[in-house]
Amino acid sequence: MTNVMTVPYLDLRPQIRSLRPEIDAAIAQALDNCSFCLGPDVVKFEQDFARFCQAEHAIGFNSGTSALHVAMLLLNVGRGDEVITTPFTFVATSWAISYVGAKPVFVDIEDATFNLDPARIERAISPRTKAILPVHLYGHPCDLEPMLELGKRYGLKLVEDAAQAHGATYQGRGVGTFGTLGAFSFYPAKNMGACGEAGALVTNDPDLAARARTLREHGSKVRYYHDEIGFNYRMEGIQGAVLGVKLKYLAAWTARRRQIAERYHELLADTPLQLPREAGYAQSAWHLYVVRHARRNELKEYLEKQAIGSAIHYPLPLHLQKCYASLGYQQGDFPIAEKAASECLCLPIYPELTNEQVLHVASKVKSFFDGS
Ligand SMILES: *Cc1c(COP(=O)(O)O)cnc(C)c1O
Repeated sequence: MTNVMTVPYLDLRPQIRSLRPEIDAAIAQALDNCSFCLGPDVVKFEQDFARFCQAEHAIGFNSGTSALHVAMLLLNVGRGDEVITTPFTFVATSWAISYVGAKPVFVDIEDATFNLDPARIERAISPRTKAILPVHLYGHPCDLEPMLELGKRYGLKLVEDAAQAHGATYQGRGVGTFGTLGAFSFYPAKNMGACGEAGALVTNDPDLAARARTLREHGSKVRYYHDEIGFNYRMEGIQGAVLGVKLKYLAAWTARRRQIAERYHELLADTPLQLPREAGYAQSAWHLYVVRHARRNELKEYLEKQAIGSAIHYPLPLHLQKCYASLGYQQGDFPIAEKAASECLCLPIYPELTNEQVLHVASKVKSFFDGS
């Protein structure tokens, strides 16, 4: 019997294995210090991550979702307000808007990048619009310049959901600092993952940074004195220690992701698949490599039979989710997002994927279309 090559959709084990001595030492030190909630490792990571993003400030959180929630609070978005965002994203993007009692106003995406289409935003602006919340989906930066332009013209703030885009660049500069605030996630499956839950906000505004620190810690600057209603959204000390180790490797991991994407481009060029392409202004962090085809479900099943993992991010756009039924959107409201949801398929892409595995995935995709 021949050996069957398996390619998991995502395998976190090789990265952890290769970093075990360093991560073990960092965790051991955090344990010795008993710095479990925030503490010196989180402070150090915040400084390093701010430098990585070329931001003045980074504030550690216990998840990307809570970082986004606090971003909305920092901009004083609340009941009666509207925030424009994409229907084609992970639901945590719009949770931030819903958590503060505001209304997500969805705007369709660009077919080429899957990102919020700047050309459609203006029509959705109302007197109640407070902010624009675009997502750098799959690690590909969205077209920020026209959004910033609209923001200036209508007095709207821009918050970047950079949860999938660590190290991606727009016009040569890292994402996260174009808007007033940028939110990152360190969920284990993201481009840089904690050993648990974690997230961060970045900003160049010292007042927003200070208030973010207060809000994540029960609304208090001085312990047991609470200036406003706050949250327990602190980053754990152990996660700060782990992320401090991982940050040193992030640039190399991104470079490897870019290499794998290049390889897929070459190998899949003459298949009927629509391949992801970088826009002229963008260097993607390649969080996901997402191809499109009408027979997506069949292809996914076929790959599964060949022991190759793939995934659908995301099968149902947010405007059609049950939780948002009260917003009154209908099937057909955002045809580009709906079509993307029915056609997209994510192939395995992570730094530890071997060249042989990439070749194997591509050859099986080809044989699906060849019928061989
Ligand atoms: C993962 C993710 C989030 C939420 O981050 P968590 O750390 O899982 O809370 C928000 N937005 C997008 C686009 C994401 O992919």
